[in-house]
Amino acid sequence: MSTVFEKALCKRIKETPPSKIRKFFDLVVSTPGVISLGVGEPDFTTPWHIREASFYSLEKGYTTYTSNKGLIELRRAISKYLTKFDLEYNPEDEVLVTIGVSEGVDLAMRALVEEGDEILVPDPSYVSYSPLIGLAGGKAVPLKTSGKDNFKLTPENLEAAITPKTKALILTFPNNPTGAILTKPELEKIAEIVIRHDLIVISDEIYAELTYDDVHTSIASLPGMWERTILLNGFSKAYAMTGWRIGYACGPETIISMMNRIHQYSILCAPVTGQLAAIEAIENGYKEMREMVISYNYRRNSMVSGFNRIGLDCGLPQGAFYAFPSIKSTGLSSDEFAEKLLVAEKVAVVPGTAFGEMGEGYIRCCYASALSDINESIKRMERFMQNLDKDTQKVSNQ
Ligand code: PLP
Repeated sequence: MSTVFEKALCKRIKETPPSKIRKFFDLVVSTPGVISLGVGEPDFTTPWHIREASFYSLEKGYTTYTSNKGLIELRRAISKYLTKFDLEYNPEDEVLVTIGVSEGVDLAMRALVEEGDEILVPDPSYVSYSPLIGLAGGKAVPLKTSGKDNFKLTPENLEAAITPKTKALILTFPNNPTGAILTKPELEKIAEIVIRHDLIVISDEIYAELTYDDVHTSIASLPGMWERTILLNGFSKAYAMTGWRIGYACGPETIISMMNRIHQYSILCAPVTGQLAAIEAIENGYKEMREMVISYNYRRNSMVSGFNRIGLDCGLPQGAFYAFPSIKSTGLSSDEFAEKLLVAEKVAVVPGTAFGEMGEGYIRCCYASALSDINESIKRMERFMQNLDKDTQKVSNQ
């Protein structure tokens, strides 16, 4: 340990907790023979023609920086693609190519947040928002969602959380970890409140293509919302491209130019090979993407019916690729359940509390995993619950 750096570190980073998901994965990696339902990424490799486009680009010598905002061909393709959600963005100055949605969230926070601003974040939701708000000097305010409302954000909860310091709301549906979506009529109610209180929306729509029974609606497409929304999306989930690190942010030129100002100093541009692969994905990747979604849908149904059969109450997730069963019947906390299950049965799941306080009593299980692994892990969970003594909370084969 360096005491010099201990003194030099800024308070904001010292106050930022490490990601609970990462901590849990360290444990998983050190346990041999584990079936992991923990990682939130597709089990598919990026489709061949997308990989091939990147090989050709390297062969042709495309190895330089691009424009800060990203290749204009990619921005044009993104702009064209988004018309399917009734969205119109000018590729010249309303689209910014980022290093995944992750960078988009960071840029949005750094461009918007002043010391003490409150940003509303659905709880539970993806792990990055609150730390990035804190690092930008803001205060993340949890917006509670609960199993009894299928983890949907309700207008009542939103209204109750707004204070004079509220600047923005993060919307993140389809949701990681709950799989909840918001339908158009539900979004219309949220939009009415947002407009009335003059708030900004940062809408993380990374799972927009991964819906099963309903078509995704973007809040930015509703009347009066385009001008107050930063839309974030990317290639990681829909096209099985997590490692390529390509995402995008869209919105009015006023905000995109300021996000680009941070991006041009801190990142310069997203990697050119990934950008060229992304053009191939968005222009020609629809067929494979739909095949992946059909496969997730099948696995979703298998996993959810398996959980309900063994006594873990689980609603049918409407989007993304996560099931979020309740483990309350076991009497264990989410952390205890995940840890004991890992030790006793070598199945890795993520405790719901990694995504916020409202995740207590739940675990996140990713169904973008092999069907054989899903079936085997459900068998192991069933045995785990049979061996669990509810009074002593000990597992008999441990
Ligand atoms: N947003 C959500 C809701 C996610 O679940 C994830 C990854 O799990 C990300 C953003 C990160 O996306 P990217 O790979 O584009 O940085």
